[in-house]
Amino acid sequence: MAFIPITRVVVDERARRLVDEVLDSGQLAQGPMVERLEQLLASAAGCTHAVAMSSGTSALVATLRSLDIGPGDEVITSPFTFAATINAIVEVGAVARFADIGDDYTINPEAVADLIGERTAAIMPVHLYGLMTDMALLEPLARRHSLVVIEDAAQAIGAECAGRRAGSFGVGCFSMYATKNVSTGEGGAVTTSDPDLAERLRVMRNQGMRQPYEYLFPGSNYRLTDLQAAIGIPQMEDLEEITKRRRANAEFLAEHLGSVEGLMAPSEPGGRVHVYHQFTVRVTDEAPLQRDQLADALRKKDVGSGVYYPRPAFDYPCYREHANVIDSDPVPHAFEVSRQVLSLPVHPRLTQSDLESIVGAVHSSWKR
Ligand SMILES: *Cc1c(COP(=O)(O)O)cnc(C)c1O
Repeated sequence: MAFIPITRVVVDERARRLVDEVLDSGQLAQGPMVERLEQLLASAAGCTHAVAMSSGTSALVATLRSLDIGPGDEVITSPFTFAATINAIVEVGAVARFADIGDDYTINPEAVADLIGERTAAIMPVHLYGLMTDMALLEPLARRHSLVVIEDAAQAIGAECAGRRAGSFGVGCFSMYATKNVSTGEGGAVTTSDPDLAERLRVMRNQGMRQPYEYLFPGSNYRLTDLQAAIGIPQMEDLEEITKRRRANAEFLAEHLGSVEGLMAPSEPGGRVHVYHQFTVRVTDEAPLQRDQLADALRKKDVGSGVYYPRPAFDYPCYREHANVIDSDPVPHAFEVSRQVLSLPVHPRLTQSDLESIVGAVHSSWKR
């Protein structure tokens, strides 16, 4: 039996044809394919504008810069995230601080409220594993304090909360990195329905230039290429189908793993649509084995898994010692779950027999 990997990227014939079209056109950098992809991204986020970027990280940086967030400003974010979230905040000279997460692995709006102060400039929720933060609570909180919300939606394309899509509550920052639900290898995008912000982002990604040699401010090069966009277009056209398959796989796994003692399967809180970028279980203290032992046991049975993330993102000397990182706010829940989480394969290419193998491998690892 073949190994079941945690992610699998398949580039189909349609993408190959579009890539060929780009190669034949001779225009390899940003061009019409990027525009086509942007329309699909905007509509998937329920926004009027999407601005493609070279990565999810540059989407975050360009957004912070476009909103004039920098030195003297604090950004409240989740401690349970990928380093890119902190890196973007630190790159613009702002200060990152962290509110604890809830059982849904996303930032707890009450913990955010406790940290809001004079210097707070933005709230940056992270829609982790494909589940949106409870924006029905976070959005009114931000509005009461006149704070901008920057959604780190890198893992949550197509996800919903209260009938609205990820990227439509605040400014949406998406990633199309190799492992994400929609992948162009490297890539990203910002979504917004504010035309002025969209224009500023477009100018920002293009060296601050609006027309040839008309510079409005010092920008950068955050552009995506038409070659990359060509790979993403068919996936965006299939997004609803991709999401449907991830959700069906998650449903099967949750159904068959839900009653394992000491193992907490993920669930979908009411009013939210989970897109299962990851299917992440918690191995609690009641389990007969620890998280890393489960990962080893699964590997021996040809089932891949991943730990996202083994520590809170700021819990490394390079961040704890950084002048732009506040590491002193208590985040006990983030520390607890980072010891317990394990993500199992849930990607749309899994077969029924793969799903059964994953369930069987977990069950047999349990009785040892
Ligand atoms: C992937 C990811 C990013 C960064 O995206 P890149 O495209 O890799 O730069 C940011 N935040 C989160 C939560 C991510 O998962």
